[in-house]
Amino acid sequence: MKAKTQVAKISTKGALVPALAPTAIPLKDRRLNFGGKWEYAPSPEDAKSYPIALRHELFINGKFVVPAAGTYFPSINPATEQQLTEIAEANAADVDAAVKAARRAYDRVWGKMPARERGKYLYRIARIIQEKARELAVLETIDGGKPIKESRDVDLPLVAAHFFYYAGWADKLKYAFPGKTPRPLGVAGQIIPWNFPLLMAAWKLAPALACGNTVVLKPAETTSITALRLAQIFQEAGLPEGVVNIVTGAGATGAAIVNHPDINKIAFTGSTEVGKLIARSMAGTGKHLTLELGGKAANIIFEDAPLDQAVEGVIAGIYFNQGHVCCAGSRLLVQEGVYARVVKKLRDRIQTLRVGNPLDKNTDIGAINSAGQLARIRELVQSGLDEGATLQQTQCALPARGFWYPPSFLTGVTHAHRVAQEEIFGPVLSVMTFRTPEEALERANNTPYGLSAGIWTDKGSKIFKMAAKLNAGVIWANCYNKFDPASPFGGYKESGFGREGGLPGLAAYCRLD
Ligand code: ADP
Repeated sequence: MKAKTQVAKISTKGALVPALAPTAIPLKDRRLNFGGKWEYAPSPEDAKSYPIALRHELFINGKFVVPAAGTYFPSINPATEQQLTEIAEANAADVDAAVKAARRAYDRVWGKMPARERGKYLYRIARIIQEKARELAVLETIDGGKPIKESRDVDLPLVAAHFFYYAGWADKLKYAFPGKTPRPLGVAGQIIPWNFPLLMAAWKLAPALACGNTVVLKPAETTSITALRLAQIFQEAGLPEGVVNIVTGAGATGAAIVNHPDINKIAFTGSTEVGKLIARSMAGTGKHLTLELGGKAANIIFEDAPLDQAVEGVIAGIYFNQGHVCCAGSRLLVQEGVYARVVKKLRDRIQTLRVGNPLDKNTDIGAINSAGQLARIRELVQSGLDEGATLQQTQCALPARGFWYPPSFLTGVTHAHRVAQEEIFGPVLSVMTFRTPEEALERANNTPYGLSAGIWTDKGSKIFKMAAKLNAGVIWANCYNKFDPASPFGGYKESGFGREGGLPGLAAYCRLD
């Protein structure tokens, strides 16, 4: 639903916008002129065509199997709080069965298969994903809360592109690493988060399989449905049994994968806190490890930047996908001379963002993924207010049920504030200023993280000078959140180590000695 007109400076602690159901607003009012902007008629994607099974089992050795302990947990739609299905909870015995299946498949089939044959399976999977892209996008949106235009136009095309890209490398590994004889690592354990469930699965599965590894994958507990739909696609593609196994559950299931003695590699994407735990428990085991953790990216706008484009890039970098992006541009550093103009443009633009039903094709900002994540966003914003920042947010009507947070930004933030240092993982931007490029660099690098950054300027030389000194794995210039399978992604410092995507993404799944 589109925001109403005014942006309030909220001084009351943690004040939230009124909770109105979208249907509570009469159609004639929704069509009327809100603050000079026309509202669109609702345009929901058809969800009924894609029914969700009431129960989801584990995917082990090519079959869906009941979990050893017979326990299940609910998975809800964060936009409605309605239960969608129940998901099997894998314990250590299930994880052991999955690792054994993966080991058998590695030893007997996948590790020995001619690389060009492995590539054919990946191409087949990529094509089936393309065929079923609409269904997968709808399921991703229902399960995770992200707007359909993100899952349909960003996530799914990239998911298919990753499988196509790594399918192409499968029989060309010798050319990827000249002078080396690349060999697979064995069984890879892959643990992924809830913000891009299918895309994170694709980032991890495609290069692992292309290099000849087999996999035990665990999706996040709030977003397991599409990974299990992907398992059906693997069956349809005829992927040999045991090559990919999918175990569902929460932290204990993840820990059972990490600590399994017959795993050769762990690839983890998630919080820095859990990443550190995993690194500690794997120390000295000889297992390979890549970690993609949190971020606190700075988007840096110089006075000579095209301001309208810059503000649009900032909006895409933090608000779309509810700020549920580890590389989100969650800090905005603006050169002093254009600060007032940028803040005004930002304030005007967030009023036009539509928050609401994620299945509506006009929605810009969907639901926050879980009640826990919403509580964390509120707590951090409150800490910003307590430390003296000013909150600006749209006064949009939010649905009565579900987890929602309106697009917001904080001004008057200093670098010592928690909102300038900690990952908020919500549609909240912390705005700060700088005078010189040196000051911008120092401020941008002044966090424990180093995942991504954005530079907005008219001067190419400034881009190169800044990019060389920013401690970030990915730096966008005059754009933001652009992804391509050929382009590696990963961080420095507490954002983790290792790269996914491109050739470095292949190297992470090969022995190159
Ligand atoms: P987020 O804050 O994004 O939810 P988490 O790090 O908690 O990030 O979760 C990311 C993934 O890690 C999820 O699949 C989650 O179930 C898993 N996980 C959580 N705790 C552990 C753990 N101790 N060991 C292994 N995996 C874990």
